[in-house]
Amino acid sequence: MSDRITAVHARQVLDSRGTPTVEVDIHCGSVMGRAIVPSGASTGKHEARELRDGDPDDYAGRSVGKAVANVRQVIAPAIVGMAAAEQETIDRKLCDLDGTPAKSRLGANAILGVSLACAHAAAASSNQPLWQYLHRRPHAPREESVTRSVTPTMPMPMVNLISGGLHAGRNLDMQDFLLLPIGATSYSEALRMTVDVYRALSSVLQEHGFEGVLVGDEGGFGPKLAGNQQAIEMLLHAFRRAGLHPGRDAAIAIDVASTHFYEDGLYRLKDTLMSATTMAAMLTDWADRYPILSIEDGMAEDDWAGWKALSESLGKRVQLIGDDLFVTNTQRLAQGIKEGVANAVLIKVNQIGTLTETLAVIDQARAAGYRCVISARSGETEDCTIADLAVATGVGQIKIGSVARSERLAKYNQLLRIEEQMGPNAPFAKWEFSEPEA
Ligand code: PGA
Ligand code: ZN
Repeated sequence: MSDRITAVHARQVLDSRGTPTVEVDIHCGSVMGRAIVPSGASTGKHEARELRDGDPDDYAGRSVGKAVANVRQVIAPAIVGMAAAEQETIDRKLCDLDGTPAKSRLGANAILGVSLACAHAAAASSNQPLWQYLHRRPHAPREESVTRSVTPTMPMPMVNLISGGLHAGRNLDMQDFLLLPIGATSYSEALRMTVDVYRALSSVLQEHGFEGVLVGDEGGFGPKLAGNQQAIEMLLHAFRRAGLHPGRDAAIAIDVASTHFYEDGLYRLKDTLMSATTMAAMLTDWADRYPILSIEDGMAEDDWAGWKALSESLGKRVQLIGDDLFVTNTQRLAQGIKEGVANAVLIKVNQIGTLTETLAVIDQARAAGYRCVISARSGETEDCTIADLAVATGVGQIKIGSVARSERLAKYNQLLRIEEQMGPNAPFAKWEFSEPEA
């Protein structure tokens, strides 16, 4: 079936917070590809820009009429007639049409919607599931791309259990406390273990008197705990309650999202003010005392010196992920690689705004030995593109949120479908990390 783009349409729909976002339909004759754009709450300063209308009377300034109009009036005429599978050419054209470094003119939300919908349309035209199409892309650059040489692989989920920070308020400084079901030998087993832990945590929290625990933006619990370390204790309790051995079957990941409490060179936690050195020492101490295998944004987005200190202290034994630090951007990642900062990068498609640029960051990270975690945003929808992307690129890890709220489950369920399509021996990314130094 021809993958010539015959029509492009966009509309405003709502995300999981009831906030407007952009949905794009790309038609290639009788087939259609559709994508919906996610949105963050704890966004990095260096991310591509969402275009919002800013009219206080229309969804409190959050409507996306301008971005939708840009798709219909500016982007559609420029790409109708092109082949949907020419992803690089289309994405370059989108960037050229915009012409600004942060995609602020047309809006990264307009651009990303089109970019992802093209991939869906091309996959549908070639009659392949998206993950398979993305892995075999016919127009991918000729040069040896690391991603093209990997096997599609089911990712290890990194699952939000307790939320604080900007995602749930209350009194936790850290944004997310997550589960890594490291004992799992398949994706579906990891998912089952996760649900066991989620249920166990619910009863553990109730037993400790945390009534009516509010559910955070990503479906994790938002109890009013005494502090960050109590969140860790509650998780360990829940692991054991679910019959899992902490450190062997189940481990902890945290997203500190520290940019949001960094001010004038200091980390402003609820009860203390810390220098970068003290912050690095605290995280190192936690990693010594608890089975914490992954720390995201332990330092603020522009605190390169702090990042360096943290990387020197923990980089050999803990996965250190740059989210606000790298913002899925090749220039920021290049600086990190050069300075030996972090050892992993969070991949969020809307931080950069096109599929091609996202794949470029994944390739760059891999070539430098950095690990990648494909991630959702706190504002999500039923769009499951990232599930297919994680499998196609074989990066090995995905962070979607908790096992509650359907915008999260849509992705977990899509991964179940893909696992089934891959057959009984679907490759799964078991947890591996270099052993701690003796
Ligand atoms: P966000 O948070 O989508 O609100 O930016 C997710 C994260 O920090 O990983
Ligand atoms: Zn983060």
